[in-house]
Amino acid sequence: SLLHPWGEVVEYKDFVSWLFRDRSPVRALRKRSSFKVAIFSCAPYDRDWFDRTNEELGCNFEFEYHSEQLNIDTVTRAKGCSAVCTFVNDFAGEDVVKALAEEGVKLIALRCAGFDRVDLRAAKDAGLTVSRVPAYSPYAVGEHAVALMLSLNRRIPNAYRNSRLGNFKLDGQLGCDMYKKRVGIIGTGLIGTIAATVLKKGFECDVVAYDVFPNPKISDPAPDGLGIPYLDLDTVLATSDFISLHAPLLPTTKHMINAEKLKIMKKGIQIVNTSRGGLIDTTALIQGLKDGTIAGAAMDVVEGEAPYFFRDFSTSCVTDDNIATLVRMPNVILTPHLAFFTQEALKTISDTTLKSMQGIREGTGPPKQNGVLDTVCLPPEAPKEDKG
Ligand code: NAD
Repeated sequence: SLLHPWGEVVEYKDFVSWLFRDRSPVRALRKRSSFKVAIFSCAPYDRDWFDRTNEELGCNFEFEYHSEQLNIDTVTRAKGCSAVCTFVNDFAGEDVVKALAEEGVKLIALRCAGFDRVDLRAAKDAGLTVSRVPAYSPYAVGEHAVALMLSLNRRIPNAYRNSRLGNFKLDGQLGCDMYKKRVGIIGTGLIGTIAATVLKKGFECDVVAYDVFPNPKISDPAPDGLGIPYLDLDTVLATSDFISLHAPLLPTTKHMINAEKLKIMKKGIQIVNTSRGGLIDTTALIQGLKDGTIAGAAMDVVEGEAPYFFRDFSTSCVTDDNIATLVRMPNVILTPHLAFFTQEALKTISDTTLKSMQGIREGTGPPKQNGVLDTVCLPPEAPKEDKG
């Protein structure tokens, strides 16, 4: 016999049957914990943040961590899971989406903003919800774009490497003042606006902008706006000393920087890309870097990055010829898609992603508010464009 929670003495078998009857605390707990999630492309820091947030929010999700990317070869790891959680280089094409649905998955929770690597149509047809984190920290990315621009202009990675080798000469290190230099911001959403603000207010650059949907915060005069003029793309390219790309990757923006555009660019232009590699035709870029049309390029993203980024290739071969060429060029800086990588961004990513999962488990759908940290549920409410 045992002491019942209300103080009565009960038989052990009665107590056990009470514990496991419908709507008992144990049943409720078991029901809550039956939501399994396969987290793909999982790094140790992802695991730390997801575990911490799972505890803080009291979600009691059961996480299965996979360092591999989600693709058709790894999709069976989602067996028995209600959700999969993926990152920028996981790929969920039609075949993967169908296989996920067959495994019983209900949610693809992207822990990034871009959904260019998920077949949204196939997800809709298979009845899968796709959630994402639209803005985990625009400051992280905007600030990294500026850091890349300054590093490129003043050749800081070269100076650092030379100094470590005992070479303290200044040859090859000549940069220019940022003050009054023309910087073209291409794409003036959340991230582009932050980069524009830092460059205009911090360095007094002559910032100009191009966007298919102009943003009044950019063009309105101070104090409400930044007083930055919008120009057409060709004028921005022809007159800028630096450009920074912040447009999403869409069919209309793929290779928006290409051999044709290189012909109209101001000679010696320096290019920063923290958006998506596909915005630039890499073969044309390499040619421009070789012939001096482009003085330098600093990129956090590059076409064909998926098999390489977030992995260690220091003892093996990078077989993508363009990436192998870029990493060896002295006028190129490459960072491995880490512009987002701040503590604040990781916290927002894990909070928003787990709240989306909670919404699916509880049948209320991912939370939607009007702030910039919304989780957008796709479908049925696919936005007009990929935010990248
Ligand atoms: P956003 O949606 O707030 O802004 C994108 C802007 O691009 C919008 O103003 C839109 O009108 C504009 N745009 C759309 N089509 C265009 C075109 N054809 N030409 C010029 N502008 C166009 O997005 P955001 O939060 O500022 O993010 C920008 C991009 O940054 C994302 O698409 C994503 O690819 C990238 N990103 C990179 C990282 C990283 O770690 N490197 C992290 C987050 C986001």
